Amino acid sequence: MLVVKKFGGTSVGTPERIINVAKRCIEDYRKGNDIVVVLSAMGQSTDELIDLAHQVNPRPPKREMDVLMTTGEQVSVAMMAMAMDALGVRAVSLNAFQVAMHTTSQYGSARLKRIDSERILHELEDRKIVIVTGFQGVNKYDDYTTLGRGGSDTTAVALAAALHADACEIYTDVDGVFTADPRVVPNARKLKEITYDEMLDLATLGAGVLHNRSVEMAKKYGVVLVVRSSLNNSEGTMVKEDVKVERMLISGVAVDKNADRISLIGLKDVPGVAFRVFDILAKANINVDVILQSIGRDGTKDISFTTNDDSAEDALKVLEDNKERLQYKSLDIKKDVAKVSIVGAGMMSNPGVAAKMFEALYNEDININMISTSEIRVTVLIDEKDADRAANAVHDAFGLAE
Ligand code: ASP
Ligand code: MG
Repeated sequence: MLVVKKFGGTSVGTPERIINVAKRCIEDYRKGNDIVVVLSAMGQSTDELIDLAHQVNPRPPKREMDVLMTTGEQVSVAMMAMAMDALGVRAVSLNAFQVAMHTTSQYGSARLKRIDSERILHELEDRKIVIVTGFQGVNKYDDYTTLGRGGSDTTAVALAAALHADACEIYTDVDGVFTADPRVVPNARKLKEITYDEMLDLATLGAGVLHNRSVEMAKKYGVVLVVRSSLNNSEGTMVKEDVKVERMLISGVAVDKNADRISLIGLKDVPGVAFRVFDILAKANINVDVILQSIGRDGTKDISFTTNDDSAEDALKVLEDNKERLQYKSLDIKKDVAKVSIVGAGMMSNPGVAAKMFEALYNEDININMISTSEIRVTVLIDEKDADRAANAVHDAFGLAE
């Protein structure tokens, strides 16, 4: 069997933990399996590198930022190969260049395009454990790129697809995918299985366990993922196309406190306005989530949308730069908002799911700012101070607790 194993920053945060992970991989290797390990940077080191950069330049060039960020993962792969060597197993570390992992050119948010598998396959044939840097790639200029925060998951899934791996295991510091973040909702429960679509919504909504693009890619290539703890041997959660267990109405509640709401007030109520606003934002690479347009009145209308803390400043800037073209009266930002979402394939065939969520919020006297829905998701925007209370109320209302 060829197994891809990905370990996150916490799992390789100290030399002791690196040695533990090495032992765990070696156990599997000694069963005769081929092992490819994908690693994140140790502990908080990516955050520390970002901090370091900002001490010399408040707006560091994105290309140089990626040169810096890729060093984090290089440290962990080298450390892991050394730890395995000390344990008497042949291992080799490879960075994005050595593999090579080809990406699109945007620094900081590149997408993987193609992975050359020859070098890895060659090393595996030589019975080495192959340890690959997560999160990074190389673009057509032969520059380093990174895949966005949390991108190592995507590296692992892409490798599993490219190598036709038999399993892709994502090891993290939690026991699997939960019905809600246990730090926010104490009685959250671990799921045995979840579908790609549900996981994708949860990941996109900030559930934190998996990088959303990794789920997108797993679905596209049919890579079955197992999310499990690197600290214990509990079973984890399987992410796949279809789940066998009796479908619950909803699978999870997600809270995203990074949301910001931006409003354009007093736009002309004529065709093409929404197009121009969101075209400008798209060209500036700004991800927009919930969108709300008011009914036109006296020839004007308002458009509000949510984006995340990282993009809000950029969004405001392009909208201000384009004030003349867009012809709005004023621009408004509210940062202390949060998105609370419920996700579940079960809601497709069950009316009343949204009403049940709204009732739970009403019972807690929580006001809803904006609402958006899809076939398997309902999202509300509320005041950030109410977010945790809302998540618990909704989680309880749907009987998700154990
Ligand atoms: N080290 C990167 C980050 O902290 C990538 C990852 O951990 O997946 O975002
Ligand atoms: Mg992660």
